[in-house]
Amino acid sequence: MADKKIYLSSPTMHGEEQEFIKEAFDTNWVAPLGPNVNAFEKELASYVGIAHASALSAGTAAIHLALRILGVGEGDTVFVPTLTFSATANPVVYEKAVPVFIDSEEDTWNMDPQALERAFEKYPDPKAVIVVHLYGTPAKLDEIMEICNAHKVPLIEDAAESLGSTYKGKHTGLFGKIGIYSFNGNKIITTSGGGMLVSEDEEITRKATFLATQARDPARHYQHSQIGFNYRMSNITAGIGRGQLLHLEEHKALKKAIYGQYKKAFEDIKEISLNPLNPDGDANCWLTGMVIADSSPVTPDMVMDALEAHNIESRPIWKPMHLQPVFAEYDFFTVLGEGKKEEAGESVSAQIFDRGLCLPSDIKNTAEDMELIISIVRKCFGR
Ligand SMILES: *Cc1c(COP(=O)(O)O)cnc(C)c1O
Repeated sequence: MADKKIYLSSPTMHGEEQEFIKEAFDTNWVAPLGPNVNAFEKELASYVGIAHASALSAGTAAIHLALRILGVGEGDTVFVPTLTFSATANPVVYEKAVPVFIDSEEDTWNMDPQALERAFEKYPDPKAVIVVHLYGTPAKLDEIMEICNAHKVPLIEDAAESLGSTYKGKHTGLFGKIGIYSFNGNKIITTSGGGMLVSEDEEITRKATFLATQARDPARHYQHSQIGFNYRMSNITAGIGRGQLLHLEEHKALKKAIYGQYKKAFEDIKEISLNPLNPDGDANCWLTGMVIADSSPVTPDMVMDALEAHNIESRPIWKPMHLQPVFAEYDFFTVLGEGKKEEAGESVSAQIFDRGLCLPSDIKNTAEDMELIISIVRKCFGR
């Protein structure tokens, strides 16, 4: 018999989701507006502790609107971490702006404040900085915010992977002028697809909702003085989100337990280190990543193949954006070797990509599933 499939990170539903959806059907609120949308915004904002939220069709849409609202346009520079999913960078290009990629530091794998400083030396007037909290680990927000504030540049927090993570006791997504979350299928909670834009400034979330609903001016007839988008979350989707939000803390606890199990299980294998956790934060541990020391003959491909042979899903670390064919023309900053190694293509992010992988982090994994995964990985290292 074939092994049962073990997933990297799949949706976990609980039942309350269907009650909110049923209510939407029963009241015929099957539209990109309605009571679930308004309630989901309020409930999420209250969970993270921010004043205002706008529910959207995707995290990518939220990043796009954040850039629009901050006035990012053709030819403007935007600093973006290189080690992320392409959805962080794509909306910059939608606006014909110019992404400039920033390397990771080793302590959190996120945007390196020193590399960010270097980018400011060459590009003193970026229109925005986007920070990402990779795999749920908060970035060095104090340092990054200090730099952004010194240069008076707004920060957008792409907290798509870090909903529920905190930094110095405050939720990620609350540090930037605008924060965004994602509820895609593999994220810590899901609406099947969706996103949220949050801000302390009501004017910002009001603009987001306005732009997301085709930018209709207040008039009886259809009047438009700006280009809009069809980016609003539907009332059905928001119902799923309301049900999921009730279980976010539980999902986080389970994700953290998975990280802890891997940590313990590989403690004796010196070649393995897990993705770092920021000591100033409390990560949601969305995905557990690992890197294999250069000195080891074991490669990430060998581990991924061994898992795949047992029908277990794992995946590479995000391939850095500065190494992507589609972004090849854009500038990149690292502090490795003080610039000399940029031309040689060396960077912290490339090293993590070359030597890393994401381990199955599905909260439905049983104790037996975890044992099996761990034994397969250990075997790769001759244990
Ligand atoms: C998932 C993700 C997004 C995009 O969110 P969608 O809801 O899928 O559009 C953006 N940034 C990062 C870092 C992500 O992981």
